[in-house]
Amino acid sequence: MISSQVAIITGASRGIGAATATAIADQGFAVCVNYLNSREAADSVVKTIVERGGRAIAVQADVSQADQVVHLFKAVDEQLGTLSALINNAGRLETQMRVDEMDVARLNRIFTTNITSYFLCAKAAVKRMSVNYGGSGGAIVNVSSAAARIGSAGEYVDYAASKGAIDTLTIGLSKEIAAEGIRVNAVRPGFIQTDIHIAGGEPDRINRVKSSIPMQRGGEPAEVANAIAWLLSEQASYVTGAFIDVAGGR
Ligand code: NAP
Repeated sequence: MISSQVAIITGASRGIGAATATAIADQGFAVCVNYLNSREAADSVVKTIVERGGRAIAVQADVSQADQVVHLFKAVDEQLGTLSALINNAGRLETQMRVDEMDVARLNRIFTTNITSYFLCAKAAVKRMSVNYGGSGGAIVNVSSAAARIGSAGEYVDYAASKGAIDTLTIGLSKEIAAEGIRVNAVRPGFIQTDIHIAGGEPDRINRVKSSIPMQRGGEPAEVANAIAWLLSEQASYVTGAFIDVAGGR
């Protein structure tokens, strides 16, 4: 177990982020559980990690806002130590509709939460982890989506397009900082059993679509967390700019 590693997971109070927090804490990471509103849920993730012998803190920050990202990383510098991993995970989905019905306020909410936040957090992480800035290297995992490949027609093309941007960020940033000791990879989950489908207006969405998934079922948050944990690990030491589809064959 490597006990000196420190990770920030954005949006770790629930769903995939919460599952990733416990998975990588079990690998020896001290974990910052970032959240937006769900303080009790974030505290509960921290409690689970501490009860299992790990180290964790919960930090509230809207990661789409530059000043709050500064606050988040400063809290980690002060309370956990030298950063070695970032999991860009916080994401937003809104009610299903066609592109010709989407207003600019919705587009801005989706793009700032799903794209701007990933850039802001990557920037802050690079300034801490890059050997060019005196850091010791590290790893970034971006949580994208199978929607980036599929497009989500009639449901949320805005969300799918935001994840397409994350795929491009992953490719470009991985090359930009490969020689500075930082690996950058992405996971692309398919239909995963979390509350995000409530925000899309269809809590039972996975049941409706499961016959279209080659494995005939939705995935569990822990199944995505395992892929993220591997990408962060030494076992993935020569892997950068790569994508793991965790989508049941979809
Ligand atoms: P979720 O259960 O809805 O959880 C979303 C998390 O993001 C929560 O912890 C939430 O915090 C946090 N969050 C939202 N906006 C934030 C902001 N501005 N600043 C900080 N935290 C914020 O979602 P999920 O399904 O686990 O999704 C996690 C990631 O996986 C997202 O990027 C999503 O697009 C991606 N993904 C999910 C699926 C799926 O089927 N579930 C499929 C493909 C990709 P609060 O609890 O405080 O609100």
